[in-house]
Amino acid sequence: MRMNGKTHGYGGDMDLRERLYVGEIFRGLRITIRHVLRNIFHTKDMPTVQYPEEKPVYSDRFRGRHRLMKREDGTPRCVACMMCSTVCPADCIHITAAEHPDPAIEKYPDSFDIDLLRCVYCGLCEEACPCDAIRMDTGIYESVADSREKFFVDKEFLLNDRTRGTL
Ligand code: SF4
Ligand code: SF4
Repeated sequence: MRMNGKTHGYGGDMDLRERLYVGEIFRGLRITIRHVLRNIFHTKDMPTVQYPEEKPVYSDRFRGRHRLMKREDGTPRCVACMMCSTVCPADCIHITAAEHPDPAIEKYPDSFDIDLLRCVYCGLCEEACPCDAIRMDTGIYESVADSREKFFVDKEFLLNDRTRGTL
């Protein structure tokens, strides 16, 4: 429907120039080119960091890669209660429980594996743990590897590795 030289309805309140789109295409190109030139010549003004030369500073509370805590004798604090693997929404924690030689401790994890490729870093595992045996405070937020299998980390890795971003 036309009213006062403008088209109403499906095309909104567009005049003929806007409906031809040619001017609008050039306007869009001008904006795009302006952003490209700004990004090339004024990188400091960009809201991003120049990764990997620059790295963002994360809060201490930011969840990084997991670690398993140890007792004073170096054995895992974990008692293989399966709370973490049960609560995990990504089903990426796999534990095999075994009887602990110390009668005061019922069980320990014979194996404790996490598939980091499935993990969504929600933190529910450390929240569910009744004995503070698993934490996500390593400060490692980037993990790289040359095969998918290396993202499947085991008990030894979780107990001992605190530093490597490369798996
Ligand atoms: S952080 Fe979340 S997804 Fe990852 S292992 Fe823990 S519970 Fe599972
Ligand atoms: S890490 Fe904690 S929640 Fe998970 S099995 Fe061990 S003791 Fe239970």
